Amino acid sequence: MKIPELYRQRKEEGRPVFSLEVFPPKRKSNMNSIYEAVDRLKVTEPDFISVTYGAGGNIADNSTCDIAATIKKKYGIETVAHLTCINSTREDVKVMIQRFADSDIENVMALRGDIVPGEEIKREFAHANELAIEIQRQCHDDLEILGACYPEGHYEARSIEEDVQNLKYKIGAGAKVLITQLFFDNHKFYDFISRLGESGIFVPVSAGIMPIVKSSQIEKTVQLSGASLPHDFTEMIALYEHDKDGLYEAGIDFAVRQCRELITHGVDGVHIYTMNDPQVAISVWEGIKDLL
Ligand code: FAD
Repeated sequence: MKIPELYRQRKEEGRPVFSLEVFPPKRKSNMNSIYEAVDRLKVTEPDFISVTYGAGGNIADNSTCDIAATIKKKYGIETVAHLTCINSTREDVKVMIQRFADSDIENVMALRGDIVPGEEIKREFAHANELAIEIQRQCHDDLEILGACYPEGHYEARSIEEDVQNLKYKIGAGAKVLITQLFFDNHKFYDFISRLGESGIFVPVSAGIMPIVKSSQIEKTVQLSGASLPHDFTEMIALYEHDKDGLYEAGIDFAVRQCRELITHGVDGVHIYTMNDPQVAISVWEGIKDLL
């Protein structure tokens, strides 16, 4: 199913779209681990599962397409295959788009990818909107396009205003649904949605939620994301920094409360960054399933 249609259906039903994100295992020999995770995640009946794309990777080794296609065919769950462009040639991108279309994938998240010092940039695509144009050119309406957005502004943009203006290029190039970067302060999300409306952007937006359940995630993910930390979040970290089990429980509880409040406010969708840990996603789902 085309993802924009899914959002239309859920809106009519008065329910948010519930989706999950997984990433391909680093080693091909670990491929079974992703399918074991999806086997467990099935219980949450997600509307779709998106599969990230390892930027900078050799396209021959890239397993995003295979994983997305298997999730759809074997598990009957709709998928979104991510695709980045900053480290790819136009030819690489064309090959991947064709591979998606040949694998009956109907939805692609068009991304630029991070500019990593030391990694080669091919310079054939500068921004995600250029990739979206290429997807449209090659596949017309066979592939629906989703895009990323940043409630607190992308780290390269000089201001949130500039970032939202730039987002219009992505929408103009065919992105029909947006998924946000992780955030912990729902007020930042509500302000962002108002800003989108003021700028004439009215596509559905799913809130990207990452449950923080380990202290290693605080440094790696939280600091890198640049997400601002509300008082109740920092209080939770301070309380449980040295208590592994306590932090796990409190992290799930924080994510559940965050999702419940967003759903009560009428969010279009909740997208859980699972970090390939099915139990975390299942625990969050259990805390919100009565609202889905
Ligand atoms: P863009 O939309 O190109 O934006 C990048 C910057 O350029 C922004 O500052 C923007 O304001 C500016 N900009 C945008 N368009 C223009 C324009 N036309 N002219 C001038 N400036 C412009 N990374 C991966 O490697 N693999 C993944 O699978 C992946 N999945 C992600 C999923 C989500 C939901 C999110 C939020 C991020 C994901 N990322 C992924 C990370 C993403 O690649 C980075 O955040 C990257 O730095 C920006 O990607 P983008 O598609 O938003 O870029």
